[in-house]
Amino acid sequence: MAKINPDFKDELKKYGAFDLNACYNCGHCTAVCSLSTEDDSFPREMVRFSVLGLEENLKTSLKPWLCYYCGECSETCPRQAFPGELMMTLRRWLTAKYDWTRLSGLLYKSLPVSITFFILVIAAVLGFSSYEKYNVEHIMHIGHYFEMFAIAGVFTVILLPNIIRMWYYTIIKSGVKVKFSTYFKKLRELIVHMFTQKRALGCDDNQVRWFEHLILVIGYLSLLFTTVVLDWFGTESKFVIYLGYAESAVIFIVTFIFMFERIKKSRELARHAHPSDWFFVIWLFLMGLTAFIVRTFIDADLIENNLWMYLIHLIVLVQWAVIIVPFGKWTHFLYRSFAMYFDALKKAD
Ligand code: SF4
Ligand code: SF4
Repeated sequence: MAKINPDFKDELKKYGAFDLNACYNCGHCTAVCSLSTEDDSFPREMVRFSVLGLEENLKTSLKPWLCYYCGECSETCPRQAFPGELMMTLRRWLTAKYDWTRLSGLLYKSLPVSITFFILVIAAVLGFSSYEKYNVEHIMHIGHYFEMFAIAGVFTVILLPNIIRMWYYTIIKSGVKVKFSTYFKKLRELIVHMFTQKRALGCDDNQVRWFEHLILVIGYLSLLFTTVVLDWFGTESKFVIYLGYAESAVIFIVTFIFMFERIKKSRELARHAHPSDWFFVIWLFLMGLTAFIVRTFIDADLIENNLWMYLIHLIVLVQWAVIIVPFGKWTHFLYRSFAMYFDALKKAD
């Protein structure tokens, strides 16, 4: 028999804004959702599970990841229960459940805790630069190594175990039998969804948003490659230098548009922005902008006497790498791609 958690509604509230009590189960949200199908029916089912406190059913479900938050269900819900926001909230809650460190839940639920973490990083970077006697060349050298080790470390120690936990909940615990060979056959689904997020195109009127996200993903991944592998801040290659400028500009221009839309609240998804949504978009904007300015300072021979500029970039980079990537909204990009993969595994056998 399904276990009921009577406190679940209160727990879920800490992850987002919506009104579960307003829902009278009419099913209109499921009818208007262009991604909901007979086999994968949502969001009403997710609303019911949440109202009833069926925590285990939610934990083993991939459905919250199948929603791309177009907001149509929320706009047309006759009771203003905001089912689209509930789906977003469930994704935050699931992120906390997958995370073995439990830090995701802590950061999602408490703004003061998040701010404390950000401040601790500032103190650590400033302490490190003082320890290094403000030697620009050395600090930039270590900063470059930090990028490499942070990527490898965060993925190995935090993200990989969390993906395994997600697999355990959604495949093993939900009782799905998958042939070993199917894991390989369906790998293509993971790659395609990770790089294109093409399912978002299934949402009505979502083409522009899908395109903006695609440009952002390409810009972000290629800037990562240019800074980490091609050593953008240290290179003499004109091609790499201009490539980095173009990639960082793409990031701060697209994220500026996202922030502008959130401030204007022009779309349903921007109306209930959680602090973690703001952190994600602001830090991505700052990463692109500060990287662009640091390289400009290097090209103008100004960086030697303006270490502060690199330190600002380093603070943003470290906060991004150790807070937002492993515990914040960045993980949604990863979990959503794996959800599409696991969903394909479930349907294959
Ligand atoms: S969330 Fe709104 S549209 Fe969906 S079932 Fe409840 S009342 Fe109906
Ligand atoms: S936000 Fe859009 S994709 Fe998500 S459940 Fe609502 S209608 Fe469907």
